[in-house]
Amino acid sequence: MASDEVEHDLCTGCDFDYLRIVKRFHSEPEEAAEFLRKHGVLPSQVTCPECQVPCKFRKDKHQWYCGRYKRYAKTKKRILCSFNVSDYKGTFLDNTHLPAWKIILFINHWIQKFWEHDIIVMCVKWSSKTSVDWRRFCSEVTLLWLQNQPPIGGPGIVVEIDETFFVRAKYNRKRSLRDVWLFGGIERVDKKFFLVSLMQRDQVLDRSAAALIPMIRKFIQPGSIINSDGWAAYRPLADEGYTHRVINHSEAFVNPNDPTINTQTIKRLCRDVKEWSKRPGLQTEYFEQYFSRYLFLHANADQTLHHFLIAAATLYPPQSDRPRGRPGAVAALPLSQP
Ligand SMILES: [Zn+2]
Ligand SMILES: [Zn+2]
Repeated sequence: MASDEVEHDLCTGCDFDYLRIVKRFHSEPEEAAEFLRKHGVLPSQVTCPECQVPCKFRKDKHQWYCGRYKRYAKTKKRILCSFNVSDYKGTFLDNTHLPAWKIILFINHWIQKFWEHDIIVMCVKWSSKTSVDWRRFCSEVTLLWLQNQPPIGGPGIVVEIDETFFVRAKYNRKRSLRDVWLFGGIERVDKKFFLVSLMQRDQVLDRSAAALIPMIRKFIQPGSIINSDGWAAYRPLADEGYTHRVINHSEAFVNPNDPTINTQTIKRLCRDVKEWSKRPGLQTEYFEQYFSRYLFLHANADQTLHHFLIAAATLYPPQSDRPRGRPGAVAALPLSQP
């Protein structure tokens, strides 16, 4: 977006439940699109790249077009600029012909703690394939939201870190996974966190300093006070601009000399994630999708739809130069997956 464009006021907070969505958006397609505009998911303004003037919106075609006439000096003919672009282009709704209200309804269903494909397919009357696709798009939003968390901590702020064994995958599967570990950190007071898996599909587990220290640099601000267990890979932390406090887990979970030195908060978060991801029917192949969705809901328990739309708009900024199509960050879950 060009810097001289007018910034439209984005929604700073709202709460919508299922009935309000249906009541407000079902019979008023423009209301639904406006709701998405208010969250930056759809563009509020488009500038013609050729004439540098604001485009007009054509509701019937869901298109932005340039209404400027160019005059040709020789012939004095006036010709209308031919620029036009779909309202959905480059956005979270790119390449779809679905009405906005159905997408809002689907998202609202997907962000409920427990949800079912069958129910949403019945409500919006989509094919199973469309539902699987949109589940993937939603998963991308929460996965990339998680991966792009701003760094936590700061001077004097206590951050607990821990790596924890997450799941032992079955070796006899075609796409076999090895053991999976989670690595995470959390601010003890404000509970800001990061959580990543230490291994991608078919890669070798790496819990060495060479793997962990760059992640710590990425996710934790210098000057933080880091509490960790005595894992050897953490030893260089003091040289990285952190205050490092160690608790030896083979002896106790809290340092007997100073009870504030512990990693209970991060252990609790990892335990919750593990429990959530071990529900019956879940498959280890998709654990990152499960836990990123879980953590998104956990961190945005209030106004979840609002926060999801803001995250989707951040990932797919309207009228960006991003190549057409989606990042394709996640694999599509089968329909049978809870
Ligand atoms: Zn809102
Ligand atoms: Zn133009």
